[in-house]
Amino acid sequence: MSVENNPLLEEFNTFQNTAPFSQIKESHYESAFAKAIETAQSEIDLITGNTAEPSFENTIEALDESGELLGRISSIFFNLNSAETNDEIQRIAREVSPKLSEFGNDVTLNEKLFKRVKAVYENRATIDLTEEQKTLLEKQYKRFSRNGANLSEAKKTRLREIDSKLSKLTLSFGENVLAATNAYELHLEDDSRLSGLPESAKEAAAEAAKAKDKEGFIFNLDYPSYIPFMTYADDRELREELSKAFGAKAYKDEHDNQENVLNIAKLRYERAQLLGYQTHAHFVLEERMAKTPETVNQFSQEILEKAKPAAQKEFDQLQEFAQNHTENPVESLKKWDAAYYSEKLKQKLFSLDDELLKPYFKLENVINGVFEIASRLYGLSFEETQEIEKYHPDVLTYVVKNEDNTLNSIFYADFFPRKGKRNGAWMTSFKNQWHDNGHNIRPHVSNVCNFTKPTATKPSLLTFNEVTTLFHEFGHALHGMLADTKYRSLSGTSVFWDFVELPSQVLENWCYEKEALEIFARHYETNEVIPLEYIEKIKAAANFQEGLQTLRQLSFGMMDMSWHGIDPTAINDVKVHERKTFDQTDLYPDVESSCMSTSFAHIFQGGYSAGYYSYKWAEVLDADAFEMFQENGIFDRPTAKKFRDNVLSRGGTEDPMLLYTRFRGSEPKIDALLKRAGLVA
Ligand SMILES: [Zn+2]
Repeated sequence: MSVENNPLLEEFNTFQNTAPFSQIKESHYESAFAKAIETAQSEIDLITGNTAEPSFENTIEALDESGELLGRISSIFFNLNSAETNDEIQRIAREVSPKLSEFGNDVTLNEKLFKRVKAVYENRATIDLTEEQKTLLEKQYKRFSRNGANLSEAKKTRLREIDSKLSKLTLSFGENVLAATNAYELHLEDDSRLSGLPESAKEAAAEAAKAKDKEGFIFNLDYPSYIPFMTYADDRELREELSKAFGAKAYKDEHDNQENVLNIAKLRYERAQLLGYQTHAHFVLEERMAKTPETVNQFSQEILEKAKPAAQKEFDQLQEFAQNHTENPVESLKKWDAAYYSEKLKQKLFSLDDELLKPYFKLENVINGVFEIASRLYGLSFEETQEIEKYHPDVLTYVVKNEDNTLNSIFYADFFPRKGKRNGAWMTSFKNQWHDNGHNIRPHVSNVCNFTKPTATKPSLLTFNEVTTLFHEFGHALHGMLADTKYRSLSGTSVFWDFVELPSQVLENWCYEKEALEIFARHYETNEVIPLEYIEKIKAAANFQEGLQTLRQLSFGMMDMSWHGIDPTAINDVKVHERKTFDQTDLYPDVESSCMSTSFAHIFQGGYSAGYYSYKWAEVLDADAFEMFQENGIFDRPTAKKFRDNVLSRGGTEDPMLLYTRFRGSEPKIDALLKRAGLVA
């Protein structure tokens, strides 16, 4: 295949330069990636080979502009690998991914390049820069320095050693969790002990047995098998057995992770110290809105103080309910009773059936509803078009216009599940926004979901959970659409991790407001607006056991910080260490054979170390932000303009705390969340 004929490497002669899916063949990718990496490398070489003194323009801006072609190809390819993949695309991904990370490493370890970046950085006080330019400079400098660029050769060598050990240890941690999970099964010869379980759970267990050439039913520790069992199985002894197996994963068994946990925590600490940070959490939080472990700890303690009395009350209520349960009364609640009795209590308190609500949430109505809300808040209008190429016939394409009729963005919406699409829902983009020589290049934004498909006789009717998901992802999309920054690496959703969920979560709030629901929550046959009593029930059900949920989430975040926000060198017993956190939050008696840390993949395998708090943090932000809309009216244009001007359009151009404070008038407070969650009166 000659490079000349590769559409990925040419100008897109399409409507608004949208991706020309019909012309792109799978065989185009590998050569396109190779060429694009080469181009990006030569752009870097031009910067390092420049004989002129390093300046903001010839180094920092040039670096931001480099790799445009590579970025364009990567977006198309990896978006398709998530939404419309196949064996060949997956093979290419395996082939290309290491090459991309190798190129990324080459840039970060490029000493000539760092020298130029550092020269500009050290001169920053004497250069006249905008706030956005200062942020870009800081971000680029940190990319190198946080990776050890300033260290002596000996320390650099140690850093590489630590990184290599850490990547092996985290891998081994994950393998152990997987192996321990797979090592267990609960095999039942017949269904005599399966009362309470829904048919779907029994069917899945029967299939699992069949797949292993066994009679009867097999349950295991994967969530789709484990969760329904713990929620519905009447047999308490079996729940206890399964729960204990779950809790003891990779703890004192043949896939024991205790050593891995201790070593990972200690090496992360050593790495942080090497780079001049007090702890691993200090290192991580430097590039977060929260900034310091002290802020995170204080924030957790404040919420804990409010949530604990509420949680205790809910616990007592649940215990009383369990004691008086007609069929299966128990004297005192254990961990394996929590999900079971909670589900029964929830059913009793709110008999809110998905099937009852679904007729009010026809997909087309919900889409038009979210468009109408975007129009009232931000003056956007959405026009469906057939002029944009689609990567699958299910994809809807829109031209988004501003109030003055100028182009805002292109929007792709891909709602239904199919074989080549991964699970879940997400926002992504095919093209970022940025300013190019005075031109405001507009973004191509996409939402991908897995909603209930229409049938021959029924349109797509969403569950309420799917409705909030659609709003959530559309909130991310608005962050992309309304972006207005000079540099593409600071545009849209390119913000600190604990800030990125604000635009998405805040929009979910409109799903609970009468004024908003009246726009789109109409019965698909009768056009009747959803009854007020349903709305009230949805709200109440959303807060069911909020105290217990909050306590649980806080406990995970606090445990994360307990490993990463201190000097862990003296810790030698994983279980003893984690009990110190759980003693503050546990209402259920401890199970001696259980250990959470040894299977806590989020923080010991994945990238959530010193980041678990972000879930609650984002809730605080969205509740606090939405409170301002509630005070001024949920469609109040001046409030929306403030949110757009200070948050949505600004991307990562300044510190998020500054952006937020400019919008809200003060730093975020936990009060609005506590009130919304019903944790305070
Ligand atoms: Zn999100």
